[in-house]
Amino acid sequence: MHATASRKQQHIGDPLSPQPVLDRARLEAIFNDIQADARYDHELNGCLNCGICTATCPAAQYYDFSPREIVQLLWTENLEGIYDAMQEKIWACAQCYTCAARCPFRNSPGSLIMIMREVAIKHGLQSAKDVLRPFSRVMLKLISTGNQLSPDMITADHFADWGPNISKIDAPLKLLRQAIPMPTLNTMQTAWEVNLKTSIELYTIWEMTGVLKQLEIIDENLFDVITDIMDEKREDYEDWRESQDGNE
Ligand code: SF4
Ligand code: SF4
Repeated sequence: MHATASRKQQHIGDPLSPQPVLDRARLEAIFNDIQADARYDHELNGCLNCGICTATCPAAQYYDFSPREIVQLLWTENLEGIYDAMQEKIWACAQCYTCAARCPFRNSPGSLIMIMREVAIKHGLQSAKDVLRPFSRVMLKLISTGNQLSPDMITADHFADWGPNISKIDAPLKLLRQAIPMPTLNTMQTAWEVNLKTSIELYTIWEMTGVLKQLEIIDENLFDVITDIMDEKREDYEDWRESQDGNE
């Protein structure tokens, strides 16, 4: 018996091009993950290639980016083009969903791009690491405290794009915060105080929804710092619970 030979190419790309050829199995794995997402069939119903989405897309006005092109790549299952778009273009979308409101096929290019971003993270693409790195401070704050931004983060160093307006935050913020009648807002390290039990519940949500797993893929150091904080807070919570048992 002859072994069944596959005619399928194992690599995609022009072997004479200076660009490295891409491993087909990897491209298929990436596309399969995009297609397997529960939202995919709902958000992609066909594509006329009419360009209405791109005509109304604010990001397309400023970047070399077109939602029509992305949807066409997905609709035609262009594995190489999808991978290429995931290197840069998918990160230009502002997630405003104007495209979804206008598409005659009721597609949502913005949602499809969101799926592609999540798959880029899952596969540890360098583009995902590069795009998310500047947000590591915000992610640390958000995951560890449940708050995205806190008064102590608003400094001239971190908001250079505010220009002269940064002088407006040159105020006795600590004092001003303490004057707010709601005690949960009398803080500087968080936008509002999140109690320990709520924090622990948030950690469980981050774990169960796979957010922490994704974080580990794109930034292992940040993942280690955050899991240390979570462990400490969980211990504090257990200590608090034991102290309550002792009081009964
Ligand atoms: S969601 Fe993204 S692709 Fe759609 S219109 Fe907004 S910026 Fe453009
Ligand atoms: S508006 Fe809809 S049908 Fe037209 S190009 Fe965009 S995704 Fe395709």
